[in-house]
Amino acid sequence: MSIQVAINGYGTIGKRVADAVTLQPDMELVGVAKTSPNHEAELAVEKGYPLYAAVEERIELFEDAGIDLAGTVEELVSAADIVVDATPSGIGAENKSMYDDLDTPALYQGGEDADLVDTSFNARGNFEAAEGADHVRVVSCNTTGLSRLLAPLEEEYGIEKARVTLVRRGGDPAQSGRGPINDILPNPVSLPSHHGPDVNTIFPDIDIDTLGLKVPATLMHTHSVNVTLESTPTADEVRDVLDEQRRTFLIPEEHDIDGAGKLKEFAMDRGRPRADIWENCIWSESASMEGNDLYLFQAIHQESDVVPENVDAIRAVLSTADASDSIVRTNEAMGVGF
Ligand code: NAD
Repeated sequence: MSIQVAINGYGTIGKRVADAVTLQPDMELVGVAKTSPNHEAELAVEKGYPLYAAVEERIELFEDAGIDLAGTVEELVSAADIVVDATPSGIGAENKSMYDDLDTPALYQGGEDADLVDTSFNARGNFEAAEGADHVRVVSCNTTGLSRLLAPLEEEYGIEKARVTLVRRGGDPAQSGRGPINDILPNPVSLPSHHGPDVNTIFPDIDIDTLGLKVPATLMHTHSVNVTLESTPTADEVRDVLDEQRRTFLIPEEHDIDGAGKLKEFAMDRGRPRADIWENCIWSESASMEGNDLYLFQAIHQESDVVPENVDAIRAVLSTADASDSIVRTNEAMGVGF
């Protein structure tokens, strides 16, 4: 029987994970839980996803909007083999005891604290750590992007030290209240930023310092990366290693893609759902070696890079595949890799 998956929180991440789950031959979406009967609730109904009430006191709002509910979130979680919690930061922690009471393993997202869970997760970085765990956190969009990049570099060349400046989008396109509108903010202003320690939840031994900025952009994050390697490959050799990974896309120079706007256009032209870009996008010509220092720029689509990772984390927790098998299956089913 296929893996029965529940999704609690049907927003930016939840709706994407729901669609990705329905594409997996070995998984079945039991349903999604929501708090409000907004356009996304209507979308879930249109897609035929059974809709459950995340909060009992709000059931009336769905009735008023004429949206039929299949039940409560507790009923949804009880019927599933695993729940993907994609609620706003901090709500996952509140939901943890419910998942425990219903004896259902749970995946959380990057907005939750690393201390909440048995292990943080990145498919390429530490798949095995999630096997049999009850509470697993799929790391944030930025940490996912960094883990995917660092994993093959560490394996192939060894990493002496990584230094990354993260130029972060102010908010997602639909987050009309976020900023800055006209500024460039060191954020967090204290250094190094929390992103490095977050990478250490996946790779405890990698020496990494990170700095963060926030800018008036919504489409993607951009990372300026310097990795001091333990050996001295040529830039072409590094490109070949990164090119072998389906979740790292080396933007060919001929594509004439100069930033996130053209990357999103590229994804739309190729029919990507919601113009999603699941892959790290590395500017091929930016990959340079100076001695044993590697430099490159990569763009990360914050709304979607964690989606294939959630799918892999489901298989990891339930021990139904090993890392390479799961990554290939997820990539094939979703069409990851340009
Ligand atoms: P979102 O606000 O877009 O979606 C969250 C959804 O959960 C909304 O539909 C909201 O109505 C619903 N919700 C609110 N309270 C709830 C409750 N008690 N029970 C069930 N549902 C509830 O948020 P998001 O961007 O999808 O973020 C979810 C998680 O994913 C956070 O931990 C966030 O840090 C992480 N994350 C977000 C991004 C991103 O760029 N948006 C990237 C990576 C990870």
